[in-house]
Amino acid sequence: MLSLAHATTGAFVASKFIHPIIYIPLALGLHYLEDWIPHWDVGTGLSNGSRKKSTALKLEFIDLGLTILLIFYLWQSGQSLFQWHIWIGAFFGLLPDFLEAPRNFLKWEPKFLKPLNNFHGKFHHSIPNMLWGLAPQVVVLVAIAFLR
Ligand SMILES: [Zn+2]
Repeated sequence: MLSLAHATTGAFVASKFIHPIIYIPLALGLHYLEDWIPHWDVGTGLSNGSRKKSTALKLEFIDLGLTILLIFYLWQSGQSLFQWHIWIGAFFGLLPDFLEAPRNFLKWEPKFLKPLNNFHGKFHHSIPNMLWGLAPQVVVLVAIAFLR
């Protein structure tokens, strides 16, 4: 899924389950669950060559920028203290994708990451149809906006 959905999910669980021993594994587990749902994201088409790496990278920076803005808007704005748990939750919600990024963009994968990335890949179901692929992510974001 988009970083927007993964990070917002991680931030959401961190807002509800304040202790990191709960929200970190939950944010990671939900990442795999969300990737299991058929979806469209900026990496869709990379493996079959229908999307260029440079395009995916540009879209990823836009995705990450929107992610930071949304998380700031939902949990950080108006707070006098830095909401560490929210940003840590968001980070762990994205971690499997961060670990895979060197392989996807640099063709470089440290040996110790290979089993983790293969595990991640087993969950990943992307679909080329952008509309159907974005729909479950919109549902996730709307649900979080109402439940937060
Ligand atoms: Zn992922």
